[in-house]
Formats: sequence, structure tokens, C-alpha cells
Amino acid sequence: MALTDLKSFDKPSLEEFLIKKEGLPAFRAGQLLHWMYEKNVTGIGEITEFSKTLRESLSQKAFISTLKVKERLTSGDGTEKYLFELDDGNFIESVLIPPDVDQDRDKKIGRNKEPGSKADTLADKTPRLTLCISSQAGCAVGCRFCLTGKLGFIRDLEPREIVEQVLSVQRHIAPRKITNIVLMGMGEPLNNLKNVAAALVRLTEFLHFPKRRITLSTAGIAPRITELPQVAPMVNLAVSLNATTDETRSLIMPINKRYGISSLMQAIRRFPLPPRGRITFEYVLLGGINDSQADARRLVKLLHAIPSKVNLIPFNGHEGSEFQTPSAERVLAFQKALTDSGCTAIIRKSKGADILAACGQLKAKYELKK
Ligand code: SAH
Ligand code: SF4
Repeated sequence: MALTDLKSFDKPSLEEFLIKKEGLPAFRAGQLLHWMYEKNVTGIGEITEFSKTLRESLSQKAFISTLKVKERLTSGDGTEKYLFELDDGNFIESVLIPPDVDQDRDKKIGRNKEPGSKADTLADKTPRLTLCISSQAGCAVGCRFCLTGKLGFIRDLEPREIVEQVLSVQRHIAPRKITNIVLMGMGEPLNNLKNVAAALVRLTEFLHFPKRRITLSTAGIAPRITELPQVAPMVNLAVSLNATTDETRSLIMPINKRYGISSLMQAIRRFPLPPRGRITFEYVLLGGINDSQADARRLVKLLHAIPSKVNLIPFNGHEGSEFQTPSAERVLAFQKALTDSGCTAIIRKSKGADILAACGQLKAKYELKK
């Protein structure tokens, strides 16, 4: 008989499994979740709160799944890249970004604090350590500057595969602690909304990761931006805007032909924000395409009256790419035009370039090898 993966369950289905299949009381589910997520154990045998007999009988029918770390690379700037092999042989990646590389650090420690949150108390005392995780193997959106997009769509990740990236990296880096999570790795999270929402529930309710320290990045699937707060815990929203006219945006992001800039901005304006909450706009600077002063002025207009900040990401080039990285002067001039108009704009340096840490690039290396 095949063993049942205890990490495949949400709380009600775990309770049902334990009651119906094991004849155990429902409170065992809460204990199991505590050990699997907060204590991050990988074997039923490690759950010392259970009697030896219970551990043995449960091990006959169930197990706790993990993800196989295929490769772990550290970049010169301290960025760590994890390449995971899924059960079906596909690869996904996560990137751990240390504080000196993470230029977006909130100066005022604890500003996103949720009263009474255990994990947040810990996070406040520890240096900011951001983990970028994947939501899909590959991506169907096909942005022309993105290597994951060029690979195409392979499959959606299961909730446990999304959450396990966090748990697995956390086990590797202990006693250091992941303090922030961004869904900015491979894939379009809003194209896998059901599983992403389930993963967010597990991260916030089982692992007690503070909602305000999680950011979901989307290419702008407008109706799903509207749906997101109804189906998932209230995490931060980042939108990859990347252009200021429909013509240019449709050229570099085909999704814009379906959800143009005005419908996207309408969905964003309606997105509920907590006090002091802000929308993050990502803007990949492509030389000669979207990096002019006119673009900067249009961007200021688009963001008018939206509590927001802009992350400027100079294009991270890859082999065979058709785009150019703008010069440092042009990047600075673009930033200045935004800040002079009162926008918050941060230049995100290319992280871990020597280990191909940009979106989807290590995965691509494996793909090409096969
Ligand atoms: N699908 C989501 C999240 C993953 S992509 C989204 O598009 O938002 C994460 C970020 O990487 C996006 O902002 C995207 O615009 C950016 N990105 C992709 N390829 C890039 C490249 N070659 N150089 C710089 N940024 C890139
Ligand atoms: Fe997909 Fe995001 Fe890459 Fe676009 S930028 S192809 S949405 S992963």
C-alpha cells in the first residue's frame, strides 16, 4: 500500500484522515501540523510528543514529504540559489537574498508588525533574509525578456511544493531565519491561484509566517488581482508593470493584450490595502524600449494617488536575448525623474549574476543540458 503524504493535507482533510483512517482524535492534527511546519521535522519518528507506538503505527501508513535539493549555489554577493528536483523530475528554484543584497529593507524595524505574532518577534531581532520562491514549473505568460517565459509552461506546483521551498531552505540555513518571502521565482502565481492561496494559508496558519512579510508578484492578471483578497490571506502585492503604454507593454508582455494597462490599474486601485500598506511596482528597464524620460513621466501619472513604491530592475541579460541592459546613467536618470516627482523608486541590482540567479536562469541551464 502506498504511503500517504501528511504534507498533502490542509487542516480539515488531515483531521479526516486521522479520524477515519487512523481512528485518532482530531487534536492530533494540530500536533502534527505544529511538528511538520513550526518544528520542521521530516520524519514521523521525530515527533516525540507522540508515543513510540503511535509513531510506529502512523509510519506504516503515512510519511512527511520533502523536496530534493539538486544543487545549492552561493554567489559572491551572498545570494544562495536552491535548485529543487520535483518527484516527476522537473526542476524549480528558490533564491535566498541576504540583507546587504536586499536593498529594499525597511529602515524602521517592525513597521509591518502584527501584534501578538510569534514569528514576527523573532524576525524583528534577526537580519532580513528574503526567500524568493516559485509557484509554477515554467510559465505560460511568455514575457519576452524572461527566460522562464521562454521555457514555456510545464505545470502548476502543488501547495506542498510551494511551502516546502520555505521549509527546506529554512532547514538548510538554521539557525539563520527566513524573515520575508516573495513569490517572484518561476511562474505566475495568479495563474495557479488555488494552490498558491492554499500555500499562503499553510505559511500563515501552520508556520505562523506574518502575512505582511509575504509578497506576491504578478504580471497583472487583472481579474485575479480582484479575486486574490477573497481567497487568500492578505499578503503584499507586487505588479510587474514594465511599460507605460499598451503598445510597448503588449510588445514585451503578451498578457497585456488581454488585460491592458487601464483594466490592470483599475484592479490595482481597488485592491484593499492595510494602513501604511503599499503596492510595489516592478519595472524591468530595457534599453531603448521603456527607459526614456517620457516613460518615467507616464509612470508617475499612472501611479498617481496609489500608495506605492517602484522597484527598478535593470534587465538581466541572457544568451540569445534581444534586449539591452540600459547604462547606469540612464537607470539613474529614470530613477531621478521618479523621485523628483515624489515617487519612491529603488534600483534593484542584479542579484547573484554569477550563479545565474535571475528569474528562471538556473533552471534553464539544466533544461539545456538534457
Ligand atoms: N510572474 C511573476 C513573478 C515572477 S517574475 C511576475 O511576472 O511578476 C519576477 C520578476 O522578474 C518580474 O518583475 C519580472 O518582470 C522580472 N524579470 C523577469 N526576467 C527578467 C530579466 N531578464 N531581467 C530582469 N528582471 C526580470
Ligand atoms: Fe512568467 Fe513572470 Fe517571467 Fe512573465 S516575468 S514569463 S509572468 S515568470
